[in-house]
Amino acid sequence: MFDKILIANRGEIACRVMETARAMGVRTVAVYSDADAAAKHVQMADEAVHIGGPAPADSYLKGDVIIRVAQESGAQAIHPGYGFLSENPGFVDAVEAAGLTFIGPSADAIRKMGLKDAAKALMEEAGVPVVPGYHGANQDAEFLAGEAEKIGYPVLIKAVAGGGGKGMRLVEQPSDFADALKSAQGEATTAFGNPDVLIEKYIQQPRHIEVQVFGDGTRAVHLFERDCSLQRRHQKVVEEAPAPGMTAEMREAMGQAGVRAAEAIGYKGAGTVEFIVDGSDGLRTDGFWFMEMNTRLQVEHPVTELITGVDLVDWQLRVASGESLPAQQDDLTITGHAFEARLYAEDVPKGFLPATGTLTHLSFPAECRADSGVRAGDTISPWYDPMISKVIVHGATREVALSKLRRALERTEVAGTVTNLAFLGALAAHEGFGRGEVDTGLIARDLEALTAVGEVPVAHWIAAAQRALGVHQPGEDSGFTLWAPLHRAVQLTHGEACLDISVEVLGPQAQRWQLDDSSYEVTFDGAVWRHSGDPLPNVAEADGRLTVFGRISSIFDCIDPLDRAGTAGGDTNVIEAPMPGLVKAVFAEAGADVKEGDRLAILEAMKMEHSLLAARDGVVAEVLASAGDQVEAGAALVRLEEADS
Ligand code: ADP
Ligand code: ADP
Ligand code: MG
Repeated sequence: MFDKILIANRGEIACRVMETARAMGVRTVAVYSDADAAAKHVQMADEAVHIGGPAPADSYLKGDVIIRVAQESGAQAIHPGYGFLSENPGFVDAVEAAGLTFIGPSADAIRKMGLKDAAKALMEEAGVPVVPGYHGANQDAEFLAGEAEKIGYPVLIKAVAGGGGKGMRLVEQPSDFADALKSAQGEATTAFGNPDVLIEKYIQQPRHIEVQVFGDGTRAVHLFERDCSLQRRHQKVVEEAPAPGMTAEMREAMGQAGVRAAEAIGYKGAGTVEFIVDGSDGLRTDGFWFMEMNTRLQVEHPVTELITGVDLVDWQLRVASGESLPAQQDDLTITGHAFEARLYAEDVPKGFLPATGTLTHLSFPAECRADSGVRAGDTISPWYDPMISKVIVHGATREVALSKLRRALERTEVAGTVTNLAFLGALAAHEGFGRGEVDTGLIARDLEALTAVGEVPVAHWIAAAQRALGVHQPGEDSGFTLWAPLHRAVQLTHGEACLDISVEVLGPQAQRWQLDDSSYEVTFDGAVWRHSGDPLPNVAEADGRLTVFGRISSIFDCIDPLDRAGTAGGDTNVIEAPMPGLVKAVFAEAGADVKEGDRLAILEAMKMEHSLLAARDGVVAEVLASAGDQVEAGAALVRLEEADS
């Protein structure tokens, strides 16, 4: 076994790897960027080395610098995590040339699976079913349109170098093909520097089911399947293992296909073979097809760990250090059911806009496994993935596990940034999902119901106001005075809503609240405050902002009476960055006429691109940003000349 390894990653996955390394007595070296100097993964490591600026290209993607740090620190091996350099065969070659071990597959295996078209051809040869379609070299638009016709609509255009759902277009009818092809190629060129695409049959009512494989370079075993059908824009949101409705026969067929895929490329380490499955008529052994192989540990690997009892990172370190496969296929069994929900800093009502912020409060209930790369006080910065944590649960049955997931999400408390927590809670409570009726279209179909913002409960207003006024402690601290009931008032806003709230402290354990025209009483029962019998929810306060937790958490701002009327109306003269991000392109030129709705710039925040549009007709006065700039939320990008009035 290694004495010391370097983890070439950050956040949640770096912490996850270090946890197992520590349990195995292996020392760890972290690397970090300027943005991560005080990050959790830096604190957890035995040693930490600064490697550059916050942009990934200046730090976490600097393979040569990372290899030098590994050598200087005496690490014998490098764990790449996921993302960043994990699927970069050039990096693997360089690591080995430096006399170090790469904890993962060979460069050759990564290359073979790196492009979706070559991987599909290879898998066909190995007898693994692949999605019907065209994955040849001819990229002529007319030729591809002809192939699409042959395959039969709807078809999916995919960038051969694709990942993270980029460069992918669903085409429903022939008349849309040419435009979709162009936009897929454009996106593929920007994102991957490779315009090539393949065309696939679009599987109806598709389910995403993937097989966890593990190889020693010659032989491989599988650790069963994960269902990742709950997706938004081809991105996984909730994953589970095993797959609902899975039969022994189907599991055997998919598991064997996964093992064949891994053995065909001499796979070493942990990998995932992703299949698309036709879910329109139950799971059938002739209804699954290879999509791609991810040659690394996957974000959702914990659900497999919880049902198999295997620590996949432990296996990675053992096999990389030369041990044989830690278990045979027959040793592996499934116990119970597991779910993972990805908790992100994002603004769901604003179209899942990635958000940033400092986590003024962060806590998870004890009954879940929370894999997280941040602590209370840490900042979700614009530089990286906005993941806060993965909330992972295990139960004896799917029903038990799902109810544990609901409960864990309800009791997860995050303040300081908006999150997708309520959306995850709504998903966990979705009836069809509860029955195991999953397909990749579920979220999009029911998006409205899943993202509905309900009325803020009265109890939330009261709990927030109690904290704002400092009357949340019962007894003497409540401000109760012997000679007169105490009155206090505050004004709170929640989104557009604004309420005048006042309290009359009736005694150390009773308060009467007035919310605009309605009045409510709350009482303290010796342990908690209650309103109509129910306990008031927990609250966190920071800088005048109150976050009330619960099945749906609510954020309130306390209005300082001196500071009112200060907020200006929408300024149509300036086009601002709505969130922190990278300016991808600027189309505006000084002096140019623009029409309302014209696209003036593209901002990339985390994994999405956002078009910034002119709010009115006008003339561009000034362009204040250029492509490549990293900007903060609210930064002015383009200014229009003052409108004549
Ligand atoms: P999965 O492992 O579930 O298949 P994805 O394929 O969406 O997840 O992406 C793999 C991982 O790579 C992501 O979870 C993310 O952490 C990382 N990743 C993707 N894009 C980026 C990026 N632009 N910068 C850094 N990491 C990224
Ligand atoms: P990426 O590299 O971006 O992860 P994948 O090929 O793994 O791309 O596909 C991502 C997602 O797109 C899948 O999980 C699935 O939801 C959907 N998808 C991919 N191929 C098909 C297909 N042929 N039919 C229907 N849906 C598909
Ligand atoms: Mg994929």
